[in-house]
Amino acid sequence: MSFQELSLQDALLRAVAHEGYTVPTPIQAQAIPPVLAGRDVLGCAQTGTGKTAAFALPILQRLMAAPAAGTPAVSGPRPIRCLVLAPTRELAAQIADSFRVYGQFTELRAAVIFGGVGQDAQVQNLRKGVDIVVATPGRLLDLMQQKLVRFEKLQVLVLDEADRMLDMGFIRDVQRILKTLPRERQTLFFSATMPPAVQQLSREMLKDPVRIEVTPIATTAEKVEQKLYFVEKDNKRALLEHLLQQGDITRTLVFTRTKHGADRVAKHLARANIVAEVIHGNKSQNARVRALAAFKDGKSRVLVATDIAARGIDVDGVSHVINFDLPNEPESYVHRIGRTGRASASGVALSFCDREERAYLKDIERLIRMAIPVVKEHPFLGHVISAPVDPEERAQDARHANRGRQHSSARRPGGGGGNRSHGGGGGSGTHRSAPAPAARSGAAASPAPAAGSPPLRSYPKWF
Ligand code: AMP
Repeated sequence: MSFQELSLQDALLRAVAHEGYTVPTPIQAQAIPPVLAGRDVLGCAQTGTGKTAAFALPILQRLMAAPAAGTPAVSGPRPIRCLVLAPTRELAAQIADSFRVYGQFTELRAAVIFGGVGQDAQVQNLRKGVDIVVATPGRLLDLMQQKLVRFEKLQVLVLDEADRMLDMGFIRDVQRILKTLPRERQTLFFSATMPPAVQQLSREMLKDPVRIEVTPIATTAEKVEQKLYFVEKDNKRALLEHLLQQGDITRTLVFTRTKHGADRVAKHLARANIVAEVIHGNKSQNARVRALAAFKDGKSRVLVATDIAARGIDVDGVSHVINFDLPNEPESYVHRIGRTGRASASGVALSFCDREERAYLKDIERLIRMAIPVVKEHPFLGHVISAPVDPEERAQDARHANRGRQHSSARRPGGGGGNRSHGGGGGSGTHRSAPAPAARSGAAASPAPAAGSPPLRSYPKWF
């Protein structure tokens, strides 16, 4: 199958060739024809599968086919004809960039809208007239309420990463936006996982959709080699430092569960003279952009991140993903390790599991239906593992743990309550805390859990 066979026009084929893509990925081969035909699509796919081009290319083609008002062919202001909703600023910015890249040989224009930065530049951009808007829900609602953005001429709506929208408490915002959109439209709905609430939302939004599923979540990214380290909590930072001193980790994302944890890991690495960038929800947008740029340019080979901040980050050549903390939501594990092994590259995912994380591990292994191979005889484990920890840090840990116990949301990836600010200001923030691992073990939250118990897992005696 070639891109030519998908009946894409020359302007798009040129852009695809320009990007160095030779063959469509499975989701592109499956999604492009029905989207071109105007059908609704329900896509179960995670980032890293080529999902963005799978919707952006056919959307661009459809918009090219019917020139908008405001273009040389038709007079009057250029209306927004496509809206893409994404859960995080990073993902929204990346999708808008993709539209620009794939549409570089067309007349179509894309703009991005997200919170956490001033709205003026975004509003000015909209005023110039754009065909495609990519937005996070909070800021978009703000602008809609100020009557700065209108969707009367909307033809296509894309909801990307619907499961993450739900996790981040954005579903009500999405529903409020939906109410104002023309009912006659094409809708494309993408989600990496399909928990019942996401299925329900898809039923509300889609008409007779074509269903597409690639790399089902439960099979995990098979290209990724996964390894597990059983390690005491206090030794995680020393283990990380040790691993980073080995030569094979050329570019790695390090995931922590909390913003505070991300900062502490970065501080530890700085003390060990390992250059690391940090990205999480308490960082300003500028700081995030700088951190991401340093990581992308290779100035720093380590990016420490919380789940939400890292969502949708598309950086090529990530050799390793390190789960410094296991995520409390098993789906996040799959999202995280999907950051490596993108497109055709292979990657390695290393996970640290301490005693308190056993329940998380159980949930993850139930979801991916395999026991992650354990690194048993690592030379490091013999000696440094029992290295004493800095007493000040230990005291900080205790203080933080105490605070965490007082806030039910503290166990959310990304640190809970601050999440509203990631996707955009305004709107009512729903405070949804993640269920405890035990509660999540039921089949309901996982798309295709193995029937019965997770794979057998044995723990080391010392653990
Ligand atoms: P996405 O799932 O949209 O985040 O895409 C993941 C990565 O795959 C991005 O770096 C894309 O540039 C790349 N990509 C998308 N389509 C193709 C293709 N047909 N061939 C090679 N790489 C691709």
